[in-house]
Amino acid sequence: MKFIETRGNDGKHATQVSFSEAILSPIASFGGLYSPEGLPQLGADFLSAHLAADYKGLARDILAAFDVDIDQAVIDEALALYDRFDDPANPVPVVKVKEDLYVSELWHGPTRAFKDMALQPFGTVLSSLAQQRGEEYLILTATSGDTGPAALETFKDRANVRVACMYPDGGTSDVQRLQMVTEDAANLKVIGIKGDFDDAQSALKRLLGSDTFREKLREKQIFLSAANSVNFGRIIFQTIYHVHSYLELARQGAITLGEKVYLDVPSGNFGNALGGYYAMKMGLPVEKILIASNRNNVLTQLINTGRYDLRARNVVATTSPAMDILKSSNIERVLFDLFGPARTRELMEQLDSEQHYELSAGELAQLQGIFAADFCDDEQGKAYIKEAFAGGYLMDPHTATCFKAYENCRSAPLKTIVYSTAEWTKFSPVIANALTGEQGASDIDALKSIAAEAKIAIPAIIAELFDKPIAQSEVIDKADIEQTILDFL
Ligand SMILES: *Cc1c(COP(=O)(O)O)cnc(C)c1O
Repeated sequence: MKFIETRGNDGKHATQVSFSEAILSPIASFGGLYSPEGLPQLGADFLSAHLAADYKGLARDILAAFDVDIDQAVIDEALALYDRFDDPANPVPVVKVKEDLYVSELWHGPTRAFKDMALQPFGTVLSSLAQQRGEEYLILTATSGDTGPAALETFKDRANVRVACMYPDGGTSDVQRLQMVTEDAANLKVIGIKGDFDDAQSALKRLLGSDTFREKLREKQIFLSAANSVNFGRIIFQTIYHVHSYLELARQGAITLGEKVYLDVPSGNFGNALGGYYAMKMGLPVEKILIASNRNNVLTQLINTGRYDLRARNVVATTSPAMDILKSSNIERVLFDLFGPARTRELMEQLDSEQHYELSAGELAQLQGIFAADFCDDEQGKAYIKEAFAGGYLMDPHTATCFKAYENCRSAPLKTIVYSTAEWTKFSPVIANALTGEQGASDIDALKSIAAEAKIAIPAIIAELFDKPIAQSEVIDKADIEQTILDFL
């Protein structure tokens, strides 16, 4: 399988690249992204043949269908990391929460959020490629809270890879921050930025696109790559669990194979939803993909009106900070897939220069044939958390946004798979507030009160964080990012 560029070719980049090349250098011509030239068709036979497969077996065969240029031994080593999840036999449990609502729990990995699903195997793949080529890589990552811990965890002490991770200071939960600043491997650098996530992501994109920065790295014989979901090496692993979740519903007798379902995805940078889009295009029986947002509802507006409009908009801080994003990078791959490179380049350049674009009526109809969208504010989210808890299910505020989309966006009584992206431990003050009304608790106090309320223990992996020494304490202005990273190298 070859990868082509979402904004067309500038004559300097190769017109098509392999999977490994798309992973190692994820930014394409004109600031575009790499997308698969075509998608494998899985079909009904593939689904029935995998009813009895375990997660790793399914993953192996989907990667084979994509015909990725990665040695099988490396893929097997990467997939073996799912054995570190709570239940190696089923790293992604799918739990029935309402009559036709099933929750696919993507957070049973080492950092307790869904980023582990892709970043765990991605770390092995990237480090192996770097070693095979005898090259050193710098992975730049900007995080709203969960990508950082997952990237640090996967690359910690790995050969030929260094990581510089930028997070918005004050924009993450205590647990997320502690997961990052307590990492002390020599190949990791964690940098707090005075600003919000979009500031951190813009800084990342600027460095990735900067020829002078690249030149300075080249002097040190270091290549640059990114671990955000602009990297297709993450998206491919995020396609797998959508197929798995569908098969789980069939295994549980909730559906028969071929029956359509809704996928209901809490969305920020649109990587999770894009994985669902590809799974649908590959033949998974999906009626529609429901895009759940918080008050940073650019995606709700795009899907409901065809307008992507950042004018007069600033990121608002919500109780689901991993979705506090206005520039949702991966929607570009959907535009490319539906409307082609020329139109995608036109739209994305208009967004850059004028802060908005508008789809034609025909384009909007195509988008609405695949997606429906709604957003959920913090108060509504708390009410869903409380209601689900009363029914015996404890969930985090990102997952809660999906419950509103479930109520408002379905037009057929089909089974719905809600994707749960974080364990309750990562956003405990909001959950404690929803359950008990308590205000302003620190993470540790909130963890204790939820544990008492739900009669469960705080997982050791989280409790231990509060006693670990802080290894990374730098918080800097945006303007100093480049120098700080060069100093680290
Ligand atoms: C990253 C993240 C999201 C958003 O996922 P995207 O793939 O960026 O749309 C939602 N919830 C949590 C908890 C996350 O960490």
